Amino acid sequence: MIDTAAQQIIDAGRWIDAQGWCPATGGNFSVRLGAENALITASGCHKGYLSAEQLLQVDLAGQPQASLLKPSAETLLHTCLYQLSDQVGAVLHTHSVASTVLSRLETHEWLDISGYEMQKSLSGNHTHDASIRIAILDNAQDMQALADELSQRWQHEPLAWGFLVRGHGLYTWGHDMSEARRHLEGLEFLFACELEMRRLGANV
Ligand SMILES: [Zn+2]
Repeated sequence: MIDTAAQQIIDAGRWIDAQGWCPATGGNFSVRLGAENALITASGCHKGYLSAEQLLQVDLAGQPQASLLKPSAETLLHTCLYQLSDQVGAVLHTHSVASTVLSRLETHEWLDISGYEMQKSLSGNHTHDASIRIAILDNAQDMQALADELSQRWQHEPLAWGFLVRGHGLYTWGHDMSEARRHLEGLEFLFACELEMRRLGANV
């Protein structure tokens, strides 16, 4: 189980790095191991060249379990997502240009996206003819405050697929790593389209 989860994280890191979505040691990835813990990337390592020695187990309070490694600073947001829904089995956090810029251009609490065929890459969407909403949280260096904000938003209305942190990046998830990767790829495509539309001043 741990070996499989570790390989999934290593493979995801290589792929995400190749897309340019986690530059300069940014981003962090995790997989749920059970009801009580998850495997997550350690702080400060480049995500394109991960090894199993750079991954550690944490409990769902974000505390390391039997490891001297320091978990990623943003571990609390991963474990918060695992606590909020038992349907969350893997979490990917990235720092792409599109998610960083778009989350600054959009000043509201939600990013609304509609009219794109690729919305169907997000589980539960079967048509372009619908609007999807991605929550945007204001950035903070206090991870507990950000996790509390995430919990409050979720209690008000459960979030689907992912959320943006303003000027920072994207958190996305799935019931397993395969779905999380599809959501990441779909959302990044949609963000890139939306950014291009805004750059062109398109109003549709
Ligand atoms: Zn980050």
